[in-house]
Amino acid sequence: MTTTAPVTVLGLGQMGSAIAETFLKRGHPTTVWNRTAGKGASLAEAGASVSDTAAEAVAASPLVVVCVLDYEAVDEVLAGVGDAIAGKVLVNLTSGSPGRARATGRWADEHGAAYIDGGIMADPPDLGTSNAFISFSGSREAFEDHEPTLRELGNSTFYGTDAGLASVEFMAQVATGYELLIGFLHTLRLVRAEGVDPAEFAERVAESMAVGYPPLLTVIGKAVRDGEFPPDLGPLSVQAALMDDLIDHRRSLGVDVTRMREVKRLMDERIAAGHGDEGFSSLFAQLGG
Ligand code: NAP
Repeated sequence: MTTTAPVTVLGLGQMGSAIAETFLKRGHPTTVWNRTAGKGASLAEAGASVSDTAAEAVAASPLVVVCVLDYEAVDEVLAGVGDAIAGKVLVNLTSGSPGRARATGRWADEHGAAYIDGGIMADPPDLGTSNAFISFSGSREAFEDHEPTLRELGNSTFYGTDAGLASVEFMAQVATGYELLIGFLHTLRLVRAEGVDPAEFAERVAESMAVGYPPLLTVIGKAVRDGEFPPDLGPLSVQAALMDDLIDHRRSLGVDVTRMREVKRLMDERIAAGHGDEGFSSLFAQLGG
């Protein structure tokens, strides 16, 4: 497979358009289709072939990328494609659950296509740059055949032949971000209530996180895998001594204490179980499962 292999892109929303644009810029003959006509105009000016139907677009290339809003949309698009997908490699870059990815993999299999699922962890303008991270899983053979083309989109990692694994990675990355960021938003209420500039505080947090968090995350991941918990962030017995003040401070300013109460409860349980010398990562053992 040369790096200028033909590609079809189904779906020309923000992300689908960025994908098609990236392929075009890298010299891939690119065929595009979108449910609502007209969205391919600027891509056509840049050299893309615009098809009237999804089935016609699929017929144009061995590699077919679909990126639409959600899996309801994927199902609708693929229903229109039907048997035209036979013999092709279908790459689905629509976000969704592992179960939906596996179901789409079965659909592809039943229709004679190889299936690769993917999760895009990037904003559309970052597609094709080193700031884009894309998880892939599904047919290893198809991934290896089309790897140079797929790598045009960004840093690409293949997670295994279970089609759901790319989504597992995507969902876990997104969830990590949301869990962290909702806590950050609540804390910015506290910062603002105390008369501190939230933007300046955010800059300082960005700096301290850049230094401290990458090694901490690595330590925590290893501790959880091995079930051995070092005193990361200090021993729990010391950390727990701050929790009442931390919660009272937030409460006094009308800032949400839900997550801090959870942290304190888990620390208290862990210490009561005789593990006060372990670190923050050991709270994992209190989460169950
Ligand atoms: P978007 O700009 O809202 O575009 C949605 C696309 O889905 C359009 O092409 C739309 O077609 C199509 N669509 C919706 N319902 C459809 C249906 N029933 N049948 C056929 N086509 C349908 O969304 P996007 O930003 O491109 O996002 C696409 C995927 O990329 C999503 O799964 C999203 O989670 C993922 N993603 C996006 C970002 C981001 O920052 N944008 C980042 C990471 C991942 P019409 O033009 O006809 O409406």
